[in-house]
Amino acid sequence: MKLAHELAEAIKAHGPLPVADYMARCNAHYYASHDPFGTKGDFITAPEISQIFGELIGAWLANLALPRAMLCELGPGRGTLMKDALRATRKGFHESLASVRLIETSPLLRRRQQETLKGMHPSLEWRETLEGLPPMPLLLIANEFFDALPVEQYVSEGHRETQRRVGHDGSGFRFTPEGSVTREASPESLEMVKRIASHIAQFGGAALIIDYGYHTPLPLQGQEESKDTLQAVKRHAYASPLGHPGEADLTAHVDFSALARAAQAAGAYAHGPVAQGTFLKRLGAELRAAALCKNAKAEQRDAILSGLERLVAPQAMGELFKVLAVTHEPGAPAGF
Ligand code: SAH
Repeated sequence: MKLAHELAEAIKAHGPLPVADYMARCNAHYYASHDPFGTKGDFITAPEISQIFGELIGAWLANLALPRAMLCELGPGRGTLMKDALRATRKGFHESLASVRLIETSPLLRRRQQETLKGMHPSLEWRETLEGLPPMPLLLIANEFFDALPVEQYVSEGHRETQRRVGHDGSGFRFTPEGSVTREASPESLEMVKRIASHIAQFGGAALIIDYGYHTPLPLQGQEESKDTLQAVKRHAYASPLGHPGEADLTAHVDFSALARAAQAAGAYAHGPVAQGTFLKRLGAELRAAALCKNAKAEQRDAILSGLERLVAPQAMGELFKVLAVTHEPGAPAGF
């Protein structure tokens, strides 16, 4: 509970923290001290559910047939997606990649990625930020990365909108001011997309951004509805976002419309978002599952099919998760 203590002291000294600062500090601590994935962790992501996910993304990237590019992944987690993508693609594609760059802030997860990706490509490199991309086409993947970036939240007080902050009342953390959230924004996400899109506009390439989120302004039902999408997940269950600072994964829904507009404003083309289920099926997820089943024992077959179902079924990840592509060329890429 060291972070909780530090945050309480900082609030005592300097006053309540904007929600975005609170989220950034909590997640930096969380990812630096936890391997959050899998049944023993706090949550599970698509590449950890089925190899088909990374394999199809690998095929999507290779299909672009760029003569030379840098392949880059934001927040690679355990490195599983990249491993499956590289395993499923041919030597010719690997040779076209000047390097494979993994952007990861957590030293713990970076070590994990190094183990997973050992020998998968002759030029693997790790960075903490996207800065300093070489002047060449960029192939970029981000799965469940943008949902972890900090969001600002706004609350209306009379006719004024004020930033929602996190205070401490002596017994615990509290949002201040009280009242429902009228707007959320993630300037850090927009900055990141602008950087990616302007690089692609200038040097070529494409990016795939996969996450859970929305692409019409919230709320969908009515004006009174809160637009608060901040949530905490711990041991596969929802928890209070203020209850376990640095010990639970804090995320917010990704505003895909805002990301698409930012990409276009930076001079690239944006496609989608399309539902993850639709995207994976268009890339042949069912055929791939059938091929894997052919050589599998009965119980492996069940695991392959239930993995596929979790990725594509609308009641599982198929609809809530969405895929946005950012490209240099105007034509819609595969799956869109
Ligand atoms: N893409 C992975 C992991 C998603 S979890 C998967 O699908 O399984 C989020 C990942 O982003 C973690 O690896 C986390 O350490 C990393 N991360 C979070 N915030 C980051 C930031 N600001 N910069 C770089 N990496 C970050």
